[in-house]
Amino acid sequence: GVSVANVSKSYGAFKALDDVSLTVEPGEFVALLGPSGSGKSTLLMMIAGFETPSSGDLLVKGVRVNDQPAYKRGFGVVFQRYALFPHMTVAENVAYPLFRRGLRGKEVEAEVAKALDLVALGALRSRLPAQLSGGQQQRVALARALVFKPPLLLMDEPLGALDRKLRQQLQLEIKQIHRQIGSTIIFVTHDQEEALSMADRVAVLEGGRLQQFGSPRDLYESPASAFVADFIGETS
Ligand code: ATP
Ligand code: MG
Repeated sequence: GVSVANVSKSYGAFKALDDVSLTVEPGEFVALLGPSGSGKSTLLMMIAGFETPSSGDLLVKGVRVNDQPAYKRGFGVVFQRYALFPHMTVAENVAYPLFRRGLRGKEVEAEVAKALDLVALGALRSRLPAQLSGGQQQRVALARALVFKPPLLLMDEPLGALDRKLRQQLQLEIKQIHRQIGSTIIFVTHDQEEALSMADRVAVLEGGRLQQFGSPRDLYESPASAFVADFIGETS
């Protein structure tokens, strides 16, 4: 599992995260939910290893990893702003994590084909990112994060740029993938319906503080604050 223990993150005098503690159990699907600016990306990027805490600790399987760089953690990451390699085709982008791990040839081809099928992009495998829509680029980023079956998959609003239909389809697919590969997933969204329908537990952030961390049912039935009750009650 992954533990965040009394973590704060300051930018100058501004606290983007304020004394956040939570533990994600192995195999769990957790959503980080909160309005814009509440600290969701900051927390996710910290778990991924792209930010360091100003204070507090990050633990992976009980080992403190505060200063361990992202590549050593080996997590799958889908960024809020999809970052594909612009000079590589769709298939090459998806193959990249496998190449980095020293895999070559038929094995890579098969895994890339499988990952592209999952996000329904097989037909576009030879295109460059600039020749794709925003939503298609996001799906490539998702395929690239899934292709090496990471033990922990971190996703920052991976469905943000998609239309409703594709969004619902990919919500189901991500849930299915979660069941199939059994990875732990931490999924950032500002959409309460998405969080409540997808996650085993939801962490609600506001102004850098963790308001509540519980099952969808807990949040509905016993919201810890008026903020949580209002935010959960909103429908989009
Ligand atoms: P959104 O839903 O809009 O993506 P978020 O919940 O992901 O929002 P964060 O990106 O984590 O929010 O930002 C939390 C707060 O920290 C914001 O007020 C943001 O302006 C601030 N912040 C983030 N990164 C920096 C930085 N590098 N320097 C200064 N302030 C920052
Ligand atoms: Mg964000």
